[in-house]
Amino acid sequence: MSKDEIIYMDHAAATPLHPEVKEAMEPYLDVKFASAMSLSGMGQEAKYAVATGRQRVADLIGARPEEVYFTSGGTESANWAVFGIARAHESKGRHIITSSIEHHAVLMACRRLQELGWDVTELPVDGDGIVDPDDVRKALRADTVLVSIMHANNEIGTVEPLSEIGKITREADVLFHSDAAQTVGAIDVDVDALNLDLVSFTAHKMYGPKGIGALYMRRGTRIEPMFYGGAQESERRPGTENVPCIAGFGRAAELTKERGADRIAKLTPMRDRLFDGILDAIPELVVNGHRERRLPNNMSICIRYVEGESVLLALDLAGVVGSTASACVSGTAGPSHVLMAVGRSMSDANGSLRLSLGRCNEPEHVERVIELLPAIVQKFRNMSPITPEHLIR
Ligand SMILES: *Cc1c(COP(=O)(O)O)cnc(C)c1O
Repeated sequence: MSKDEIIYMDHAAATPLHPEVKEAMEPYLDVKFASAMSLSGMGQEAKYAVATGRQRVADLIGARPEEVYFTSGGTESANWAVFGIARAHESKGRHIITSSIEHHAVLMACRRLQELGWDVTELPVDGDGIVDPDDVRKALRADTVLVSIMHANNEIGTVEPLSEIGKITREADVLFHSDAAQTVGAIDVDVDALNLDLVSFTAHKMYGPKGIGALYMRRGTRIEPMFYGGAQESERRPGTENVPCIAGFGRAAELTKERGADRIAKLTPMRDRLFDGILDAIPELVVNGHRERRLPNNMSICIRYVEGESVLLALDLAGVVGSTASACVSGTAGPSHVLMAVGRSMSDANGSLRLSLGRCNEPEHVERVIELLPAIVQKFRNMSPITPEHLIR
C-alpha cells in the first residue's frame, strides 16, 4: 500500500465501475450507438444488448426477464413502486404500510401520498433496526394496498426479515415491495424465496454505472405506468433505452452472480475486524445495527462527544473516504431519521460514522483505519466542551 493511496470505504453510497463493466459498455457509447428501436442492423445489435442485459439482471434475482423494467435508478424505481401501485389499486383502498427507517426514496414518496389523503403506517423498529413481522401482520387492513419494507438499511446495515414479512403479505393478498438497493449485488436476493412482488435496485451500488436501475415486478402485477410515450419497457416506462448503461448493468449483475459469494467471504471478516479494532481502541462508542444480521460490508457506529462530520473530514485529509450515517442526509438539517428510530440520542446521532467496504479494500486498509481513527477521535474529544473529564488525555 503506497503512502498516498486513497482508502475508499463509502461503497454504500457509490461503487467504482468494474473494469469489465466499463468494457461491456464501451461499444454502445460510440460504435454501436443506434437506438434499440431502430430496425437497422446496428439497432438490432442494441436491441440484443438490452435483451441480454435484462436477462442477466433477471437471473441475478431469480426473476424472468419480462419482469424486469429498466429505470434511471433506485429512487425512480422506489417512487414508481409506491405511486404506481397506489394509483392502480386506489379502488381497493388508500392504506400503505412502510417502516420508519426507509430510504427517503420510499419514505418521502409515502409522505407525499399522505398529503394527498392516503393513510400511511410507518412501523417502528427495534434497537437493532429490525422490523417485527408481527407488527406488519397487525397493521394490515382491508384497505391496505402495499407493504414496502427495505431489504437492508443503507445507514446501519441491518437486514430485514423479508421472507417472513412476505409470507404474511402473501396470505393477506397484499402487494409487497422492497427497496433492495443495498442488497442486490451484495447478498443473495431471490424474489421467490423472499416472497416479493416488487423490488427496487440500482447499478451503481454494485460496480455498475450511475443513472440506471431496475424495478422488478412479478408477472401480472397491475401498476400505473411511470411515463406515457413510446413502446419501450412494455409501454410502462417508455423512452429511448440507455443501451450502454443497460449493457453495463447486465455485466455487473453477471459478475455478481459469479463472484458474489467470494466477495461476501472476503468482506465479512474485514468488517468484523474493523468493528473489533475500533471498539477495542476507542471508549464510549455505540454500535448501530444488528451485529450479525447486517450487510457483510457495513460498519456503523456513533462516537460519543464528537461531530461525525469533523471525524469524516479528518479521515478524508488522511486519505480515508467514509461517511456519516448516510450520504443522502449530509447537507440537510437534523439528525438521521434512522438513528433516531433505533433510539440514539441527538448528540450520539451527531457522532455517526459509516465505513462501507468493497471489492478493492484489503485487510491492510482496515488496519490503517484502526491505526488512524483513535488519534483523530481523541483530538476532537480533547477539544470538545461536552467530553467528560476521564476521557480527556
Ligand atoms: C442508493 C439507494 C437508493 C437510491 O438509488 P439511486 O440509484 O441513487 O437513485 C435508494 N435506496 C437505498 C436503500 C439506497 O441505498
